[in-house]
Amino acid sequence: MAKGKSSKKKTVFVCSECGATFPRWTGKCNVCGTWGSIVEETVSPATKTQFRLEHSPQVKPITSIKESTDVKRITTGIESLDEALGGGLVPGQVILISGEPGIGKSTLLLQIASQMAKQGKKVLYVTGEESSTQVYLRGKRIGALDENILILADTVLENIIETIKKEKTEFVIVDSVQTVYSEQLESIAGSVSQVREVSGRLTELGKQLSIPIVLVGQVTKEGNIAGPKVLEHIVDTVANFEGERGHAYRVLKFIKNRFGAAGELAVFNMTSKGLEEIKDPSSFFLAEKPVGKPGSVIFPFTEGSKPVLVEIQALVSKTVYAVPQRKAQGVDINRLAIITAILEKELNIFLKDKDIFVNVVGGINIKEPAADLPVAMAILSSALEKPIPQDLAAFGELGLTGEVRSVYYTDLRIKECKKFGINKILIPYSTDINDPSLIKIKHIKEVLDVLK
Ligand SMILES: [Zn+2]
Repeated sequence: MAKGKSSKKKTVFVCSECGATFPRWTGKCNVCGTWGSIVEETVSPATKTQFRLEHSPQVKPITSIKESTDVKRITTGIESLDEALGGGLVPGQVILISGEPGIGKSTLLLQIASQMAKQGKKVLYVTGEESSTQVYLRGKRIGALDENILILADTVLENIIETIKKEKTEFVIVDSVQTVYSEQLESIAGSVSQVREVSGRLTELGKQLSIPIVLVGQVTKEGNIAGPKVLEHIVDTVANFEGERGHAYRVLKFIKNRFGAAGELAVFNMTSKGLEEIKDPSSFFLAEKPVGKPGSVIFPFTEGSKPVLVEIQALVSKTVYAVPQRKAQGVDINRLAIITAILEKELNIFLKDKDIFVNVVGGINIKEPAADLPVAMAILSSALEKPIPQDLAAFGELGLTGEVRSVYYTDLRIKECKKFGINKILIPYSTDINDPSLIKIKHIKEVLDVLK
């Protein structure tokens, strides 16, 4: 692959999670604390010279900065995506979109490419995962064939950079960053040093030419390819493309954004003609919510500025196993264990002979603790076989003694609930908003009154 250099090869051990290097193998990375993430890599001395900053350092008063921030944004042609980005793409912005294989990343990007091409922009689509024919067939299926979209089936970084410069493309998609390699490095494509080199040099180029670049990052459950953590520090924006297999909805969630707020979402519906944007995700996610059944509650989810109402479901049933099952989709399994323990201790409910399954409908992965209260309520509701009122939503963090603690974005969540006619909202007691629809609770045991 790489051309043999006369310089001596060097073996280093690299953490695939954080990119730290070590002289010898260890079971645990001392820098980020991950176990089993250290991999052996061969590097040439060239690696050391990456990431030179080419501008000289400059200082300016903080007051003089605001004038230069109103950059001209480039629209992606997809309204909810522009919104989630903070108003569109910024020239020179480098975005990493990661997600499991087959989730629909290539479809989304080809649609963006087509929208950009329709605006007369010259787009370069670098495909390392698929052949040009496969990309063409997908383009044909979703109606994304346009003369302005140039396909490059190549995985050599130097060729890609040359093409971008020669063709003067205005928008670049690299699908995926793990397949691309620099000939100046000895290590294989997808290794930590290659991923770092490729993303570093493309980022530099994007800034230099002021063109937005999207890098696709493949993620496997085993994490045996270079962890996206290494990439996350290099790029401007990181988004995860999530969804449940076998379900049509997809969520693009922004985790980091130098040019906008993190936590923003864009929601799509996967159809045979590609992804359709869902402008009103709350009503979409609640459309199939069961009526009058125990174990289901509405949660106003938000990690950014736009809350979305999602349904949290729990199923509590007598176990047939020696060890009861605890399974969660969309909620952290450790958090579920804590919530279960709090319910047992504070409400005297025996769950040790019960299997507990929790699911967030819509495939959204919830990281925020505000989901504690609704998760606890869904479990209680299913365990006691008492349905939660249809027009009730809840949010709040649970402390270890069962106290309900305040969370962020209270006002935004309440507003979204009211928009959908939800008249009872269970919220932490300390909230200083007053409204007849709010039910303020101090402790998890007060939930029992609502279930009656
Ligand atoms: Zn590490």
